Amino acid sequence: SQPTKILLQLHPYGKKRKLMLTRDVTAVQLAEAMRRDFVANVSHEIRTPLTVLSGFVETMQTIPLEEADRTRYLSLMSQQAQRMQTLVSDLLTLSRLEGSPAPGQGEWIDSGELLQHVVQEARGLSEVIAKPVHTIEPVAGAPVWVAGVKTELLSAMSNLLSNAVRYTPGGGTIRAGWQVRPDGIGEFFVEDTGPGIAEEHLPRLTERFYRVDRSRSRETGGTGLGLAIVKHVAQRHGGQIEVESVLGEGSRFMMLLPASRVRVH
Ligand code: ADP
Repeated sequence: SQPTKILLQLHPYGKKRKLMLTRDVTAVQLAEAMRRDFVANVSHEIRTPLTVLSGFVETMQTIPLEEADRTRYLSLMSQQAQRMQTLVSDLLTLSRLEGSPAPGQGEWIDSGELLQHVVQEARGLSEVIAKPVHTIEPVAGAPVWVAGVKTELLSAMSNLLSNAVRYTPGGGTIRAGWQVRPDGIGEFFVEDTGPGIAEEHLPRLTERFYRVDRSRSRETGGTGLGLAIVKHVAQRHGGQIEVESVLGEGSRFMMLLPASRVRVH
């Protein structure tokens, strides 16, 4: 819908038919350019771990290795394979979200249950990536019920929490919970004491493969697709994402759901 707006402003007095035609062609060209970008990005993301992986295979085939080195190599290779698996899994999630019609009301779910689930998972992740000093706190408030697709909501919540875990240095604090705003809108929030994000990056964060710091994202197993997934889930439920961040202090990511999908008991 964005390209349409731009063109209508550029040609406000064009003949209607011509305008339609131009608009369609432009939309098609833009879609094509985006598709090309996407394919280039995916290829690049796959090529990197693949290059590392085949490099190790070649080394192991040509040089006899000590047992310790062999073990280390295999572990690094397994990491690269894991990285490709995560990428493919995120790509499939994204394509399912983009390709299927928005869900209806879905089922009413106890948000406390969802929260427990993703907090447990985040604690596990924090141990795996060796930042066990994190405090990951579920924030208990009034019990909130949300209507939607459980797997999608879990996936969005889990992506926001895992970002907080991955970007917050050891010793940091992460708080997450559901609450209802005064206007009835439901808010899932994740606050961290991580590095924060400079303002100029905020509008682009949900673009596929957009990263503020490429190497930091990769180091911690990021695919660059997490926030794109969260955005789609929010939009499919009639909601959106909000971010507040202060460089050097931390970030607060919020997934909002419309009042019609939220109840407090
Ligand atoms: P990635 O897999 O790279 O984390 P995401 O789409 O989840 O991809 O996030 C996009 C980018 O937003 C990240 O690469 C990172 O630069 C930034 N980001 C996301 N969450 C946080 C956070 N909690 N603190 C700091 N930066 C973040």
